[in-house]
This record gives sequence, structure tokens and C-alpha cells, in this order.
Amino acid sequence: MGAGRFEELRSRYRVLRDLRGTLALLEYDQQVSMPPKGAAARASMTKTIETLLHERLADPVLGELLDDLASDGSLDEVQRASVRVLRRDHERAARLPEDLVGALAECRTLAYQAWTQARPADDFSILQPHLERMLELKIQEADALGWEAERYDAMLDLFEPGMTTTEVERVFAELTVGLKALAERILAAAPVRPAFLSAPYDEGEQKRFCDWLVAALGFDTEAGRLDLSPHPFTMFIGVGDVRQTTRIEERGLFNAIYAALHETGHALYEQGIPAELRVLPVGDVPSLGLHESQSRLWENQVGRSRPFCDFMLRHLKQRFEGLAGVAPDAFHAAMNHPERSLIRVYADEVTYNLHVALRFELELAMFRGQLEVRDLPGAFADAMERHVGVRPPNVADGALQDMHWSIGAFGYFPTYTIGTLYAAAFYERARADIPGLEGSLRAGDARPLRAWLAERVYRHGYVRPAAETAEAITGAPLSAQPFLGYLSARYAEIYGL
Ligand code: ZN
Repeated sequence: MGAGRFEELRSRYRVLRDLRGTLALLEYDQQVSMPPKGAAARASMTKTIETLLHERLADPVLGELLDDLASDGSLDEVQRASVRVLRRDHERAARLPEDLVGALAECRTLAYQAWTQARPADDFSILQPHLERMLELKIQEADALGWEAERYDAMLDLFEPGMTTTEVERVFAELTVGLKALAERILAAAPVRPAFLSAPYDEGEQKRFCDWLVAALGFDTEAGRLDLSPHPFTMFIGVGDVRQTTRIEERGLFNAIYAALHETGHALYEQGIPAELRVLPVGDVPSLGLHESQSRLWENQVGRSRPFCDFMLRHLKQRFEGLAGVAPDAFHAAMNHPERSLIRVYADEVTYNLHVALRFELELAMFRGQLEVRDLPGAFADAMERHVGVRPPNVADGALQDMHWSIGAFGYFPTYTIGTLYAAAFYERARADIPGLEGSLRAGDARPLRAWLAERVYRHGYVRPAAETAEAITGAPLSAQPFLGYLSARYAEIYGL
């Protein structure tokens, strides 16, 4: 009887998976190629598919099937994990009342629209009422989903299943103390920003270089595409179809390259999950933090390392005359140039996680009722000064700089830092495990590292939780120490600190 019931799960899951893939494709198209006048029709299509997905997922018949299977002792490990993963999704969908789901979707559209107007107008009052409504709805959502120690746990759990506020607070406390001291020393030693970093470079040539680079790292272009969008991202559409984007601007060659390296890390992970798992609920990435560990690893541990910078510079010189006179030492230093800056997405590796720390602090305070939305602009500016050491001159580059809160993505920011910390710990392990890793990267050969990641990360899909996959690699719980050690070593190499 077990085998037949599991077949039923498989066929129900196929519909859920196809609906999700359809949503992803609609979203991808919206960000990459949809004409602006298509927005209203697209919002309607998206809402229709979302409603179908929610109905299918919350279906009580699915709940009964999952209950039966949960007590079926004949299932193997992958089947049991499939039941666990889908049951979690089902229970969450079933707990959310239809009208709350609708209200959240509507508020998201309106608040995001308000944000797109508020930021250029440098006027928080345009967003404020929508953000107040959003916070109210997210609190209702947290209460509907359920939580034990802390309401914000329910938000974290949406993106990093199993992660708790207590754990994130512990990690940020450990990180910020060490990082602030280290950042002081590194920033004091930093030279003037080299001019070639923001010189103009031909945009067509930039795209061709990014295309070449992502393919060189192993992104399968027969099973994916690299396109352009204002905000780079990666999306899994279906088996054999993983989309990634970068952003090209005349004076942004290195932003384009590092965004492409980052997204390629995500894309290799998506392409690396075995096709035989993809037909089951476990054919997925277990958490955003683990996803982000992959993007950060290729962007930073690999992308900013001396061997890989040497490899890139050789190839860049063949395409961009402006880089002809740049020496390998200067290039490597420039790819690691740190500075206190206002905008998170452009922040360097040293200060980036301080930007994240203050966002975590503020959204947690909002969830605890210790910070009102109307006081957010001032609290944001104060926190920037305290953590990053610069004060935003306006609200556009302060509390309005990110879109996350407008779309209700509370609990999302910490996954950037969780990913950063995993990446450093994983790379430390990879260097110990793979003889000659740096030599292969200097030659532009990513195969040894990819094979290691496939074995340690990709092939597991969501058969086990993210923290288990991470601990199996590092042998330790989440910690800031490997990252702090890595940054110290990197800047000891560059500035002789
Ligand atoms: Zn990312």
C-alpha cells in the first residue's frame, strides 16, 4: 500500500512543482523583458497561479495523504524526507486564512509601488502607511503560522527553516564585535580607490566577458541563460532551465563581473541538484542561507582570491585596453578595496555584514514592538552610524534604500550573513580537502571545486536540513570565526597587516 500512496504524492507534487515553475517564469520575464504596460495583466496572471498553488497545497486530501505516509515505515530516506518537506509546506499553507493570503499579496503590490515612488522622491511618508499595514499583516501571518519563544522566529523560519532569533542574535553578536575591530584596521590601511575600478568600459564587451566567465566556471548554457536586469538574481524554472542575470553599466564593469560570479554560485547549485531528486519535494535548496553560501563562495572566497584574480586579469586585458597597465598586485588589491559606504548592495566584503546586522536589529525591534514604523528613518540613520560609521544624508539612501521591507520580506536579511559565514567555513574545508585547489583556480579550472561542492552540497538537495548539510562539512555549528579568520588572512596578504 505504501508504494501506491507514495506514487500519489509524486503525482500531486508534479502539479505543485509545475505551478511554481510557471510563477518563476512569469516573474523572470517580468524582471527581464516584460514591457511596462504589461504590469497589470501580469499581476492578474500571477495572482491566479498563486491562488491555484495555495489551494492545491492547502488541500485537506493532501493533508490526509501526508498523514498516512508519515506513519509508513516502508519508505526509504529520500521518500521520508519528501513527506517531511511537503508536509511542512502543506501545514503552513493550511494555517494561513485565504483572506490573509490575499491581503498580503495586495499589500505587497501597493507597498512595493509606493517604495518605487518614495525612494526617488526621498520621502518616507509615501511608504509609511503601506509599511505599517505590511508589518501588521506580517505579525498576523507569524501568529497564524505559530511560534514558541519569539514571534520573529516565524519570519526567520520562512527563509531559514529551523533557525531561531536567539541563534541569529548570538551569531551577530560574535560577528560584529570581531568585525568592527578588524574593519577599523583594514579601513585605516586602505589606499585611495583606484581609478580603473570605475572607468568606462564598452557595455557589449562587458556582457561578452560575463558570458565567457560564467561558462568557464561551469554554468551549463544549454541548461540556462545569462540575461540582464536592474537587480541581478537567479531563478530555477525547471530541470534544464536555470536563469541568471547581471547588471551592466558603462562605469560598472566590476559590479557586473562580481554580480555574475555571485549569481553563478547560485546557478551552479540549482543546476547541480540531481534531476532524480527534482521530481520530488526534496529536489530543492533547503534554505536561503545555504543558497547564499554558494553565491558568496564563488563571488568572494574564489572571486577575490589572488589566484583567481590573476586568471581574470589575464583575460580582461585581452578585451579591455584600459586595463593594459594594471599589475596583478594592484588588481588583486582593487578587487578587495574596502570603504565605508552608504549602500548595502555596493558594500565591500569587510563592511557588508555590518549593513546586514543593523537591518536585523531594526526589523527585530519592529517585531518586538520596540520600534514604530514612523521612527524607522531616524533609527536607521543612527544604526548606520553605529555599525558602519557613516550617516545617510537623506532617507533615500537610508531607510528607503532596500525594497525588502516593502514586499514584506522580514527575516530575509539574516540569510545573507548566514550564507557569508557558511561560505568561509566551507572554503576552509575545501582548501584542506582539495590538493592544488589554488593552482587549478589560477588556471581557471573550476572543476575540482565544483566536484567537491556537488558531493558535499548539491547532491543532497533538501533530503536533510541546511544546518545538517553545513555541519557535515564543517564539523561545527554556525560560527563567525572562520569568516573573521578568512578576512584577516586576506588583508594580511594585501596590506601586510
Ligand atoms: Zn544571492
